[in-house]
Amino acid sequence: GSNEPSLDNFWMPFTANRQFKAAPRMLASAKGMYFEDTDGRKILDGTAGLWCVNAGHGRERIADAVHRQLSHLDFAPSFQMGHPIAFEFARRLGDIAPAGLDRVFFTSSGSESVETALKIAIAYQRAIGQGTRTRLIGRERGYHGVGFGGLSVGGILNNRRVYPLLPGADHLRHTHDLDRNAFSKGQPEHGVELADDLEGLVALHGAETIAAVIVEPVAGSTGVLVPPRGYLERLQSIARKHGILLIFDEVITGFGRLGTPFATEYFGVEPDLVSTAKGLTNGAVPMGAVFASRKIHDALMTGPDHVIELFHGYTYSGHPVACAAGLATLDIYQEEGLLRRAGHLATEWREAIHGLRDLPHVIDIRTVGLIAGIELQSRADAIGTRAYEVFVRAFDKGVLTRVTGDIIALSPPLIIETGQIDQIVSTLHDVLIEIL
Ligand code: PMP
Repeated sequence: GSNEPSLDNFWMPFTANRQFKAAPRMLASAKGMYFEDTDGRKILDGTAGLWCVNAGHGRERIADAVHRQLSHLDFAPSFQMGHPIAFEFARRLGDIAPAGLDRVFFTSSGSESVETALKIAIAYQRAIGQGTRTRLIGRERGYHGVGFGGLSVGGILNNRRVYPLLPGADHLRHTHDLDRNAFSKGQPEHGVELADDLEGLVALHGAETIAAVIVEPVAGSTGVLVPPRGYLERLQSIARKHGILLIFDEVITGFGRLGTPFATEYFGVEPDLVSTAKGLTNGAVPMGAVFASRKIHDALMTGPDHVIELFHGYTYSGHPVACAAGLATLDIYQEEGLLRRAGHLATEWREAIHGLRDLPHVIDIRTVGLIAGIELQSRADAIGTRAYEVFVRAFDKGVLTRVTGDIIALSPPLIIETGQIDQIVSTLHDVLIEIL
C-alpha cells in the first residue's frame, strides 16, 4: 500500500533515509537498550539514538512528567513572562553545571545552542568595550550544527561549500591527522603543539579582532577524534592570554558521555561558555542549553532596565514541556548515578572494543568514556562504502551503529550492561569477517 516505506513514496527525503540508500528501515518503538523495527525485530541501540538517549529509551518517568506538564501548562512565552518550571530546571542544572558556569540560556537544539553561544561571545566582548572582536575561530573536522555560525566555524569543507559564511571565520588545524592509525588506548601522543595554531591566528589577524574559539572536546560527528593530553589546557591558556573566549561544544560529550557530567571536568578545563543539547532531555523532547559564567551574564545585563545587550531568544526557549522532560531526566541521571557510569565502564568498554583491532580492514580504534570510533581502511575507489556495508549488515544482525566516512561510531546508552557490550562487539566481529 501507499504507506509501505519505499524510495518512491518517501515523503520526507530531506531528513529521513540518509543512511539506508536502498530500502528505508523503520524503527517503530523503543525500550531500554533496544529499538523495535516495523518488522518486530529487536535492534540493540549502539548509538543512544544520535548520542541522545543516555538513560535508555522509553523512560516512564520522563513520559509521565511530559504528560503532566502538557495538561498543566503547555506553553508560556518565555520572552515576556517566566514560568516556574524553567527556573526550577535552570536551578537544578546548576547542581551539575560545568565549574563556574551557573547561568543558563535555553534553546531547542544543538545548532541553536551553538548559534547562541557564538552570539553571546560577540555581545559580551562588545559589552566590555571590545567591540572590534567579532571574529570566530573553529577547528578543522569540527561539527557545530547547521546554522550559519556553526557552519562557518565548522570544519567540514563539504558542509561549508554551498553557503556564504560569517566574515573572518578561521580554523585551527586538527590534531588527528598526526596520530592516525595509532590504536591509542586513551588520549593520543601527538599534536599538543597544534594548540599553538591559536597563537598563529592571533599573529595573523590580531587578538583585537577575535571574539571566541569553539571546539568539540572530542569531535564526534567526524569520527571520534580525541585530543592529545594537554591540548585543551594549552588552548585555554592561549585564549585567556589574548582575551579570547573559549567555547566547548558539548552537544555530544555533555551529560555523562565521558564519565563526568561534562568534558570540562574530564579534561580539567574551564571554558567560558558550554553549548549542550541531546542528553539534556534524554532526547525525549528537543531542547538545548548554553551554560555561561556569571561574569558574562552580568556584563550583558547592565543596560538600562536590565535589557540584555543581545537580541536573541527563541519562541521555545525554556519550553515548559521540555523543562519537565529535562527535570525528570536529571532525576534519573542523579538517582542512577548515570553521569559517572561511563567512567566505571570505560576500561571494560575499551578492552572489548579493542578486541576488534586485529580483524580485517580495521586500521585504528579510538575510545573515550562510552564512545568508540573504529576506523576502516577505505576501498581504493570509494570512501565510506566499506563502513556503510558494516552499518547495514550490523543492523540486519540487530545492532544499530553509526558511520561517518569509513569510521564506525558507537555511543550506547549509559545504562548498557556487559552482555550488551558483548553483543555489539561480537556482531561487529562477525560482520568485519564477512565483508570484503
Ligand atoms: N554540535 C555538535 C558537537 C553536534 O554533535 C551536533 C549534532 N550532532 C550539533 C552541534 C547540532 O545539534 P542539532 O543536530 O541538535 O542541531
